[in-house]
Amino acid sequence: MHVSIERSGCISCGLCASTCPEVFRIGDDGLAEVHQQPDSGLEDGAREAAENCPVSVIYVD
Ligand code: SF4
Repeated sequence: MHVSIERSGCISCGLCASTCPEVFRIGDDGLAEVHQQPDSGLEDGAREAAENCPVSVIYVD
């Protein structure tokens, strides 16, 4: 699994970081970033964050 964020579209709601903080965090610029790619134990959380992002800018492949 590889996770990425189209950061220019992030509205800084913080949901991804609260859903799966091992993978997502809010960066110094106030936008979400991936700070660690998910290992197998974190894939469900990463997928849930992607599905629930209000502006659908998290991509999982
Ligand atoms: S859930 Fe989406 S909009 Fe909200 S902080 Fe994460 S990437 Fe940004």
